[in-house]
This record gives sequence, structure tokens and C-alpha cells, in this order.
Amino acid sequence: MQAPTEITRDLVLVGGGHAHALVLRMLAMDPVPGARLTLVSPASHTPYSGMLPGLVAGHYSFEDTHIDLARLCQWAGVRFLRDAVTALDPRRRELHFRDRPPLGYDLLSLDIGSQPTLDVVPGAREYAVPVKPVADFWQRWQAGLAGHEGQRIAVVGGGAGGLELALAMAHALAGKGATLVLYCGGELLPGYHRSARAAARDAIGRLGVVLEEGARVAEVAAGELRLEDGRRQSFDALYWCTAASAAPWVADSGLAVDDRGFLAVDDSLRSVDDGRVFAAGDIATQVNHPRPKAGVYAVRQGPVLARNLRASLTGDALREHRPQQRFLSLLSLGERRATADRRPFSATGAWVWRWKDRIDRAFMRRFSELPRRRAMAGGASPAQAPCGGCGAKVGGDPLAEALAALREDFPAHCLPGGAAAEDAASLPAAAGTLLQSLDSLRALVDDPWLMGRIAAQHALNDLYASGARPRAALASITLPFAAAPVQARDLRQVLAGALEVFAAADCVLLGGHSLQGPEWQVGFAVTGEAVAASPLRKGGAKPGDQLLLTRPLGVGVLFAAHMQLAADGRAIDGALALMTSSQAAALDAALAGGATAATDVTGFGLAGHLCEMLGDGLGAVLDVAALPVLPGAEAAIAAGLRSTAAPANLAAWGGRVLGAADPVRQQLLFDPQTAGGLLLAVPPAGVAEAQRVLAGAGLAAAVIGECVDAEPGRIRLRDAGPPAVRAG
Ligand SMILES: Cc1cc2nc3c(=O)[nH]c(=O)nc-3n(C[C@H](O)[C@H](O)[C@H](O)COP(=O)(O)OP(=O)(O)OC[C@H]3O[C@@H](n4cnc5c(N)ncnc54)[C@H](O)[C@@H]3O)c2cc1C
Repeated sequence: MQAPTEITRDLVLVGGGHAHALVLRMLAMDPVPGARLTLVSPASHTPYSGMLPGLVAGHYSFEDTHIDLARLCQWAGVRFLRDAVTALDPRRRELHFRDRPPLGYDLLSLDIGSQPTLDVVPGAREYAVPVKPVADFWQRWQAGLAGHEGQRIAVVGGGAGGLELALAMAHALAGKGATLVLYCGGELLPGYHRSARAAARDAIGRLGVVLEEGARVAEVAAGELRLEDGRRQSFDALYWCTAASAAPWVADSGLAVDDRGFLAVDDSLRSVDDGRVFAAGDIATQVNHPRPKAGVYAVRQGPVLARNLRASLTGDALREHRPQQRFLSLLSLGERRATADRRPFSATGAWVWRWKDRIDRAFMRRFSELPRRRAMAGGASPAQAPCGGCGAKVGGDPLAEALAALREDFPAHCLPGGAAAEDAASLPAAAGTLLQSLDSLRALVDDPWLMGRIAAQHALNDLYASGARPRAALASITLPFAAAPVQARDLRQVLAGALEVFAAADCVLLGGHSLQGPEWQVGFAVTGEAVAASPLRKGGAKPGDQLLLTRPLGVGVLFAAHMQLAADGRAIDGALALMTSSQAAALDAALAGGATAATDVTGFGLAGHLCEMLGDGLGAVLDVAALPVLPGAEAAIAAGLRSTAAPANLAAWGGRVLGAADPVRQQLLFDPQTAGGLLLAVPPAGVAEAQRVLAGAGLAAAVIGECVDAEPGRIRLRDAGPPAVRAG
């Protein structure tokens, strides 16, 4: 047996800014053996700033202007953690988050951009919409767009960003009676060439924007700006695009920062205080060569950063980066016109816009048209092939380290009373019936914390479908081969994710077993207590019972598409949000509606699990049009994508499905689900109550058909016409 490459170090990239997008692309093409890359980003898409005004103006789509980081990471073989860092502890080499446990690193790189400065002007944070984070701005702008007709819209910030934004907004709102007012604290476009400023003024005139120069905002109140010169000006909507400021947690880390809180880095882009921390883009200030904050510098730093991160991992010498003194600034002017400024040169016109458009699109193609990648070199480790059997156990140290932290975070639900020290966990005898189930998953996502949450919910769904409330769980975890400190990090993440789910369900993790292996596997044996005298069963449904499905279908095909880089990161986000949420309310709904049968829809797909429910005595009519479906799943099926388990499901259960329906929706019947919905058979009189309970818990259940006493063991599709015999 060949030794697989062991993960020995974690390189964590925080923020999917311009520089990191390039780093991901470059490191993916030539991975460093033993180094695991992780990208942390609060959203699956990051905007390309150069095209943002074009998005607002309506020249570009969201997809044109955003890099799909989830897809890029999937291609790059990089772990993607969808989250925002809230603190950095360089002494412990840990990143902190609002919900998940701290994430350890061996090498860290920050490219988190900047945000407009809000706090120096009283009232700005309360009443203004800052242009960054762009995701929030874009949501607010789109939501407000229709309402902006006839309104007075203020944009504060007379630099390149504020100007481009005001002109783009004016273009988008042309003919709608809106008045755009651009407030500049000093003159418009400070530092720009005279003729670029003249072109900007010309565009301002063409689009009817009101320009207020020397109009520094001193205070913001509801619907009113108070200027330093004493004037008061009203607004209906206020957008903020002033000088950049740094996330406060960077300075709070104790690392050296400049006078505005941006991380101080040397010419190799490394923190002047800490050789394990690098930074690029707006968040970094090269102390020897400070420059204004602009995306063009972040783009230039990307290749240097990639080279120096690699050199840090391999022990090679770092390269120095000297940023250019001046750069070509291409400003879009609302319409499809732009002005170019690189002193002493300046030019304006539609051709400049086309030039800029070509440059911007070429940049974006680097992240949408991804080349074939050389797979991570395996077997590079000279180490002995890893042992199997009990020799594959995770070492005592990483386990103890992870459990100690988890016990602190989840004192009532993680191995209470020192349960781990025993060979077997004890579970006090219950008066009623105890039910047990076991489920184990290969990693669907590479974020261990998310994987822990998904696997825990997946396991608990079996108990809910059986009418039981969870009481205890045992874990069976296989971690990828890794050095002890990396394993301790992974164990903590995966178990913290699971414990969050278990604690919410008041289920105690009593123990478990952890192994090392070639890939992640996360499983839980769960025990629950039946809430009624007799547990819910798969069988037991009656003719006329309505079939309720508590969660949309499409997980299988969406993740198949994701693996082939054919899914939109937002669709994956949507699926993950459902898969990590609890279905405890489905049990309450089953009880409230008097459900006669229940099961959870997992690997066999809806068709397989419904057939199990029907047995040989009942048939079902399925309303294919009523099936709830995850966004993106139908498009993936229509594009010919399938989960690898779908053909087997089709072969096993396809013969039981009668009639024809919309072919895409019909395929969904065979799509395997992870942490899928519960399928409940509820008598007609109980359906409204069951739905009320589900809706109260935020679970949008759909009635997808009914049980009939015809065609036993078969599912007739409603689209194919009325069934031979109706229920009742
Ligand atoms: C309207 C407008 C137009 C502009 N046009 C241009 C232009 O044409 N040319 C130019 O050079 N510059 C332009 N800029 C400036 C440009 O936006 C920035 O300089 C550039 O985006 C900085 O890039 P970056 O790589 O530092 O970070 P960004 O591109 O801002 O990316 C930062 C990333 O980090 C993520 N992030 C933030 N906080 C966290 C956290 N706590 N944890 C994890 N992730 C986090 C964000 O979600 C984001 O994905 C423009 C700015 C504006 C407002």
C-alpha cells in the first residue's frame, strides 16, 4: 500500500479579494505537497470592483461581475469555508468566527478589502447604505430600485468610486424622475488629470447629476444631510462611498498596523511583526511603498503573494514587490463611455469603455474558464504506508486536545461525566421504547464544521421519522491522513458542528471512534426515545392519506453539478442552508396531523423511499408539478447531470413509477438526498394542522400526492392523467 500525502500544514486565505482569487488559481496549478489550502469567505461570490459600476448601470449581469469562489475552490481542490472572520489571535495562530469554533492555521493570508469609513460622521452608520460589503449594497440597491423613482438620491464620496457609482445610478434611473446628488468633501476626483475631471463633469451634466463640491457631510439624520458649511439637504436614499477603512479586528489582533488600521506589511507582503501572516489588497499597507487603495494594486500583488506563500511553505527565499507609482485608471461614465487617466495621458469616449470592457472581461475569464488542473501529487511522502485496523486510530493527543475544547464549549452535551474514559457509554434505562439508527456519510463538502452539522442532522432525521426524540449519539469519524495538530483542528471543527446540532436537540454525544483514512467520513449512531406508545413506521399509511414532503429535492444532482464545476455557488449555499437545519418540527407535525407513516428521503430518492412506505398493499398518486425543488436542480438535470447514485435508483425503482410526466421532474424522483426531507402520510383531516406546525418552524412542506388503494406498490404520476382508481 502506497503512503498517501499527509496534510502537514494549513494555509488559510481569509477573504476572496482580487489577490486571493489569483493566488488560488496559481497555487492550484502547482500544489505544494502536504499543504492544505482553505479559503474563508462570507459569500460564495466576490465582486470584481472594476465592473461594479457597470453592474449598477445595467450593462452587466451579476454573473459577469462576480467570481464564483465556491466553484473556483472546487476546481482548485481548496477547502471553502463560507464564513466571516471576526477576530485574529496570532499568538495561538487562530481565527475566530461568530458561530463556529476557532480555526487554526500554520500560515495565514488576508485579502479582505476595505469598507467606506462610516463612523467618523455621526448618523452615517444608521442611515447610509455603504457600497461595501458589495453583497449587502447590491441587495439594498436592487430592493430599492423600483422605489427610487422620483426620489432624491444622495451619493457621498467624490473619488473614483463615488463618481462611477453616482453616474451608474443616474444611468440606471434615467427617465424615472430621480435626482442624483454627488457630495464631494473637496473637489471632484482629487489627484486626477484635468481632462479626466472635465470628462467626468461632462458626464455629470449629460446624466443630470447634481454635483456638490466642497460639501463635506458633518452629520446624517433621518432624511437629512448636515454639511460642514451649515447647509441642510434632504435625501430619500443615501449611499456612502468615502475613503477606505480597515476591519477593526485586524488592529485588535495586536499586529502592527498603519495609522488607519491597515496591516503593515514589508515588501514581501508579510506582516512586519509575524512571519506567518501575509496580506495583500486594500487591507495591507506596504510600509516602504504606501499606495492609495485600489483594486489594481491587489491584482498586481496576487502573483507575488502566491509566490511568497509557496516559498514560505517550501522554505525558499521570498521575493520583493515594488508597487507601481502610478496606474492606468479607467473610469466608467454611466453610459457605455469611459475616461482613461494615466498622467500625462488622458482620453475619453465609447472606445475607452470598449477597451476597459475587454480588459475587465479578460480578467474575469481567468476565473470562469478554468484550465485542466494537475491533480495533487499523491504518494510523495516518504513515510511508511499507514496501518489499518486499530493502527489507523487517531492519536491520543489530537483527540484529547479536541475533546478538551469541545467539553468547554458544550459542557452538557459532550461526553458529560468523563464518558470518553470508559470503554462503553452508559445510557440510563428509559421507561418507554428506545430507537436506534446509524448513518455515515462521505464528505459532501470540505468544510468539516458544515460536514459535522450535515451528518448530525442526517442521522437525527431517522429518529424524527420514527417518532423519537434524540437522546444520545456516538460518533464514527474518519479523518484524512494528517499531522497531529492538523487532526486536532479537524476533529474540533467536525465535532463542534455536530455538537451544535445535538445540543439544539438536547442529544448527548456519549463517545465514538476516530480513524485516519484516505478521505473524510462522518457518521453517527443515534438513540432516541419514542414519544408515543408505538413508534412511527414506514408502513401503516391508509388510502386517502396525503403525502407531505418537508424539504425540496435536488441535493444529489446539485452536488454532482458542483463537483463538475457546473453549479452556481448560490445554489449550493441554498442547499446547504436546508441540509444543516433541523427537522425536529417534522416530528411535531407528524404527531399534530396524526401521521400514519413516515420516513426520511435519503439515498434511494423519493421514488425508492415512497415505494418502501407503500409496501405491497398500497399505491400512490404523485403530483409531479407539486414537487418542491431546490433552485438550480432542474437546470442541472436538464443539462444532463445526475448524481452517480441516480442510475441505480432508476434501475431499482423506475419500474414502479407509472405514466410519464415532465422528464426533468421525473428524474428528480430518483435523485439521492443527503439530510433530505421527511415524507409523511397524513389523513386529510390532519393535513392543515401538520402544515401549520411545519410553517411555524419555517419548514415549507408541500402536499405532493396521496395514497390510493389501487396499483399496489406503484407510483402513478398525476401528470399522466387520472389514476385508474381514486382513493376512498
Ligand atoms: C464603485 C467602486 C468602483 C471601483 N472601481 C475600481 C476600479 O475601476 N479600479 C480599481 O483599481 N479599484 C476600484 N475600486 C476600488 C476597489 O474596490 C478596491 O480597491 C478593491 O476591491 C480591493 O481589492 P481587495 O482584493 O483588497 O479586496 P476586495 O475585492 O474588496 O475583496 C475582499 C473580499 O474579502 C471578503 N471579506 C471581507 N471581510 C471578510 C472577513 N471578515 N472574513 C472573510 N472574508 C472577508 C469580502 O467578502 C470580499 O470577498 C472601486 C471601488 C468602488 C467602491
